[in-house]
Amino acid sequence: MHLREILNRDKTIFSFEFFPPKSESGWDALTNRLHEFEALEPSFVSVTYGAGGSSRTHTHDLVCHLASKTSLDPIPHLTCVGHTKREIEEILGTYSIAGIDNILALRGDVPKQGTTDGDFRHAVDLIDAIKQFPDSSFGVGAAGFPEGHPETPNRLVQMDHLKAKVDHGVDWICSQLFFDNLAFYDWLERCELAGINTPTLAGIMPITSLSSMQRMAELAGGTNFPAALQRRLIRFQDDPDSVRAAGISWAAEQCADLLDHGVRGIHFYTMNQSSATEEIYRILGAPSGSLLRKSQ
Ligand code: FAD
Repeated sequence: MHLREILNRDKTIFSFEFFPPKSESGWDALTNRLHEFEALEPSFVSVTYGAGGSSRTHTHDLVCHLASKTSLDPIPHLTCVGHTKREIEEILGTYSIAGIDNILALRGDVPKQGTTDGDFRHAVDLIDAIKQFPDSSFGVGAAGFPEGHPETPNRLVQMDHLKAKVDHGVDWICSQLFFDNLAFYDWLERCELAGINTPTLAGIMPITSLSSMQRMAELAGGTNFPAALQRRLIRFQDDPDSVRAAGISWAAEQCADLLDHGVRGIHFYTMNQSSATEEIYRILGAPSGSLLRKSQ
């Protein structure tokens, strides 16, 4: 379903992000777990893409599996770094044939061992390519960074870059993960001041272990880990179950507060695990995902 229709259907969007497993055992584990995600009735799910095309077929295979074998509505991520225009057109062609309605358009991080050669410099160029694709009707999403993107220290200029993506036809924005709701609300206000009124989903990732926090800090450069959150986690550092419970409870508090503030949607970075998201739904008191989506 086109994202604009999903936005019309659901007052509050709930979406889940998966990554395509590279191993057979990872694939089996995820596909055996998909019914647990289906039970949570998200508005859509998204599938990440390895920048430079390293997981190109894996992303495509998982997206097609989700579309044909489950009730989940998949949106592929697509990064343009290192790709030629022709390669991007080929990928868009396969998604068009598979009946995929939306693409999350990203630049991607330059791979450590990879090349920066290619026809695209920034996500905005990919957005143009998607819009120019013959008979294109893809809904197009873009990434936003409430606490800033490390490559652009000038936050005013960074907002100009986000505005450019919006002006080139973005239907929704998905935020980088964050742990400080006030930073997110302030960013939304700054977006509004810049003339950006595009529906924006808040990126939430529950911390389930101290090592996962270290990984997140690495992957989501610029993201702040508030002292209060770190204190809660460190308090239980010798008890992994309690660290997990504290991380999930923080994320659930974030979600409750976001819903109270009338956020347009919440995007869960699931790491292919359903249990943390299930627990958050339970803490929110949600009897079903569809009721949560209809709620204001
Ligand atoms: P851009 O919009 O191109 O921005 C990248 C940097 O360039 C920013 O600092 C921006 O300010 C700057 N910039 C933009 N336009 C210009 C310009 N005209 N001149 C100069 N500077 C400019 N990565 C993956 O590899 N695979 C994924 O599946 C993936 N999914 C993601 C999903 C979400 C929701 C988010 C938030 C991130 C995701 N990423 C993914 C990471 C993302 O690709 C990187 O953070 C990347 O560095 C930025 O991508 P972008 O699309 O925002 O790029």
